Amino acid sequence: MNILVTGGAGYIGSHAVRKLHAAGHSPVVLDNLSYGHRGAVPNNVPFYQVDLKETDRIEKILREHRIDAVMHFAALISVGESVRQPLLYYRNNTAGAASLLEAMERVGVKRFVFSSTAATYGEPEETPIFETTKQQPINPYGRSKWFVEQILRDIVATDSKFGFVVFRYFNVAGASDEGDLGEDHQPETHLIPLVLFAAMGKRNNITVFGTDYPTPDGTCIRDYVHVNDLVAAHILGIETLSEGDARFYNLGIGRGYSVREILDTAKKVTGKEIPTVFGSRREGDPARLFANSDKVQKELGWQPQHTDIEEVIASAWQWHTAHPNGYKNS
Ligand code: UDP
Repeated sequence: MNILVTGGAGYIGSHAVRKLHAAGHSPVVLDNLSYGHRGAVPNNVPFYQVDLKETDRIEKILREHRIDAVMHFAALISVGESVRQPLLYYRNNTAGAASLLEAMERVGVKRFVFSSTAATYGEPEETPIFETTKQQPINPYGRSKWFVEQILRDIVATDSKFGFVVFRYFNVAGASDEGDLGEDHQPETHLIPLVLFAAMGKRNNITVFGTDYPTPDGTCIRDYVHVNDLVAAHILGIETLSEGDARFYNLGIGRGYSVREILDTAKKVTGKEIPTVFGSRREGDPARLFANSDKVQKELGWQPQHTDIEEVIASAWQWHTAHPNGYKNS
């Protein structure tokens, strides 16, 4: 299939491009490079520096490359920023997706895979979280993605030839097996890279956001899924997508680790001391988020390969130590 990968120069998108290639598909990358890295896209993959709001240019790309399906990764991802600048999030994530979907409608591209988030569940009513758990996002980031889910439901209700898969990500981590693709967010806010930066001496310490949560060790629990496992689900999703599909899947391994457990594991993996500061809670952080992912396992035959947190952290460590400045000068 000819597959347009939006955000293909980003962390998850770049891993998707590689795996799509390996699976015999032809990816085409669209990225505005506001956060993505040109160096994360191989030279033999068509690349367009285009923003999601440029509907006409996207339409042209869809036609030119006879695109069969779209994987939509491009988005802003910072919860804190979304609270401070909600319109930025609604413009990029919600209106951006609508613009992309409009271009698809003009050309007649009917297959869509969407990166959604566990943040659409907000402070969940139950854990583990099922796809049927009530969605009540508590910040603009979560809502900006939730709105897109609703838009997709509306499209499929009026166009029986359209089909989509929504993946709700838990915490994505790790890097490519080859060690040449990995996480490079500017600024970085995610736990695992920041812990590893502290181990490398790239930052002075790591602050644990809250030790008074109602969890066994008082720190937050999250479900860390390896980026290649996440991407594998997308490929299964797109290859099995049929007309009229409106599918929603959680992507997590179904087991949570606390912040303290991540720190202990990182210490073991790196063999380094990790200077730690115990700070107060970060606003908007639910105590525990972990998935029930039976649905994606049963319906798509998805089986995560990296269920050992040590292995996930080791994979990220390999990338960060080989690329201390990310894609810059690498
Ligand atoms: N966290 C932390 N210190 C940091 C960054 C994150 O203690 O510098 C915690 C955060 O409160 C959350 C977990 O680590 O409980 C994972 O946070 P991250 O930002 O990686 O992902 P999120 O769960 O917010 O999507």
